Amino acid sequence: MTYQEIIKKITDELKTAGVPDPETDARFFLEEAAGTDYSHLLMQLRDEVPDEVSASLEKYIEARKHRIPLQQILGFTEFMGLKFYVNEHVLCPRQDTEVLIEQILKNDIGGSRVLDLCTGSGCIAVSLAKLGGADVTATDISEEALTVAARNAQENEVDVHFFRGDLYDALPSDEKYDIIVSNPPYIRTQVIDTLAPEVRDHEPRIALDGDADGLAFYRRIINDAGTYLNEGGRLYFEIGFDQGKAVSELLRNNAYEDIHVIKDYSHNDRVVAAKRRAVVAQVMTNDT
Ligand code: GLN
Repeated sequence: MTYQEIIKKITDELKTAGVPDPETDARFFLEEAAGTDYSHLLMQLRDEVPDEVSASLEKYIEARKHRIPLQQILGFTEFMGLKFYVNEHVLCPRQDTEVLIEQILKNDIGGSRVLDLCTGSGCIAVSLAKLGGADVTATDISEEALTVAARNAQENEVDVHFFRGDLYDALPSDEKYDIIVSNPPYIRTQVIDTLAPEVRDHEPRIALDGDADGLAFYRRIINDAGTYLNEGGRLYFEIGFDQGKAVSELLRNNAYEDIHVIKDYSHNDRVVAAKRRAVVAQVMTNDT
């Protein structure tokens, strides 16, 4: 079979299996199986595909037909121009989350102490350490996720302090941070079954499920953030497209100011940023 024929075969098979955007997947699979970039492949469309390349492609197509996410099949993805290893134990880093990173990197965070809660693949923690030069601590409840995150820190050549546990409980001591960031699970439980099979059946449910109203993690993170955030420190969240108002309200009711909702490139609300209000010394009055 020639490259031209195999491209058509992959695309047709994926289309029949209901895979959205099969051309893109075919391209990624070919690049990975042949170990070369697509522009080279286009110059050899009439060449025969070597057996070992078709064998890899068969495996990829079979997995993709079962709607396993492209990134999990390849074993990696790109995020903020960096390479991240992924598997079924972590949420695949998404482009939406780049908006969160870009927002934080607008300020000079070199040397700042950053805490990333629910780190998953470590994409936020590693990007902020690598691109911002921050001193990053990251936590997650999943041991398997932390294994992936640690590998991503190592392969991107940054030091991140990882701890396993439930949000702040993972931290070994009550230290203070300049920035707390999180892309926590934020999908309403009853909505999960309506999501694409890639997400619903193959991404970890604990990375998605934000409880009945989707806000459980924001509530918990905001309630305790005061203990860990320096005065004037900043809190950044990724949010669902319809959660801007609710999360802003939680922040407003918890002594945060300078609250902004930022949109992603599809014009959906995607990030909320806020500042911890400085504590004003209380004046004691004695009116008895
Ligand atoms: N922090 C990770 C990310 O942004 C994982 C998020 C999650 O599992 N909810 O991709």
